[in-house]
Amino acid sequence: NTALVQVRDLKMHFPIHSGLLRRRTGAVKAVDGVTFDVMRGETLGLVGESGCGKSTCGRAILRLYDITGGEVTIDGTAIGQMGQGALRPLRPTMQMVFQDPQASLNPRMTVEAIIREPLDEHTRMTGAEKADKVAELMDAVGLNRRFAKRYPHAFSGGQRQRIGIARALALNPKFIVCDEPIAALDVSIQAQVVNLLEDLQEKYGLTYLFISHDLSMVRHIATRIAVMYLGRIVELAPRDALFGDPLHPYTRALLSAVPEPDPTRARARDRIVLQGDVPSPANPPKGCNFCTRCPAVMDVCKQVEPTYQQVQPGRFVACHLYETTGTADPTAGHPPH
Ligand code: SF4
Ligand code: MG
Repeated sequence: NTALVQVRDLKMHFPIHSGLLRRRTGAVKAVDGVTFDVMRGETLGLVGESGCGKSTCGRAILRLYDITGGEVTIDGTAIGQMGQGALRPLRPTMQMVFQDPQASLNPRMTVEAIIREPLDEHTRMTGAEKADKVAELMDAVGLNRRFAKRYPHAFSGGQRQRIGIARALALNPKFIVCDEPIAALDVSIQAQVVNLLEDLQEKYGLTYLFISHDLSMVRHIATRIAVMYLGRIVELAPRDALFGDPLHPYTRALLSAVPEPDPTRARARDRIVLQGDVPSPANPPKGCNFCTRCPAVMDVCKQVEPTYQQVQPGRFVACHLYETTGTADPTAGHPPH
C-alpha cells in the first residue's frame, strides 16, 4: 500500500499584531512541524483537544491557507508552494466535509444547486449530465430526489450533512478531510452519518483524514490514529496498538478518559488527570511542549525538543522516554491493514 497524501514538517503560523501601529509581535503556532502519511483507502484519525491545531492542520493540507512551511504531496504532486491558480485543477481531488453543515451550505441555494455548483465550476458537463450526476449523488447519500428544489433550512441537521457530503463527492475526489463531521449532530444521528461515510469510502475508494475530539468515534472508524497536542503530533499508531498500549504520556492521559467498550478486555487503567492548562500556541514551552503538564517529565524535557520518530514498526512517538536511533521516515514500516 502506498501513501496518497504525504505531509512533511507542515507549519501554519498566524501572525499576531498588537499595539497602536499593529506591529507584528509574534505568531500563533497552530501547526508546528507535522509529519505523516495518509495511505490509500485508509481512514487516518486526527485527534486532540479543542484548540490543538487539528482543524488548521486539515485545512492547511488542503491548501485552504498559504502555509508557513513544510510540504504536502497529494497523489505525487507537491502542492505546498502552489498558488491558488495552479491549485485549481487539483481541487476536485481533495475535498472537505465541514463540522457545521448549517454554516457551510448557502441558505439561498436549493439542494440541487448546492450539489451542482462544483460541477458548474470545474467541469464542462451539459445540463442534462449535471442533473443526472446530482440525482446519483442524492441517491448515494440517501437524500430523496423529490427534495431537490428545497432549501437547506427545510432539512434536519443530519440531512444537511448528507447534502454537504454529496457536494464534496461531486467531483469524484480521492481524498476527503472530514472535520468533526458529526460533532454538531444529535447523538441519534451520528452513527448514521458515520456509517454513510464508511459506505461511501468503500463504494468510491475514498481516503479520509478524520478529525475529531471524540476518541470512541475515531476508534470505530479509523485505521490508524495520530494524536495532536499544541500544534504537533505526539504519537501515531495503528488503532489497536494505540488503544491497547498507548506510549506517549499525553496519549495515555487522553485514553484513560475513554470508557472501554468491551468489558472482557478492560484493562486496569486508572484515569490520569493532567494538571494545568494547555499553554498558548503563541508561547509554547521550551523543549517538549508537553513538559508543563507531563506526569513523567525529566530535566532533559525542559531543554531539548524530542524527535518525532519511529519506535516500533508503524509507531511514531515524540518523547524522550522512547528516544532511540530510530528513523523519522514515516514511509518506513507501515503494517498492512
Ligand atoms: Fe513527558 Fe518528557 Fe516525554 Fe515530553 S519528552 S512527553 S515531558 S517524558
Ligand atoms: Mg476544530
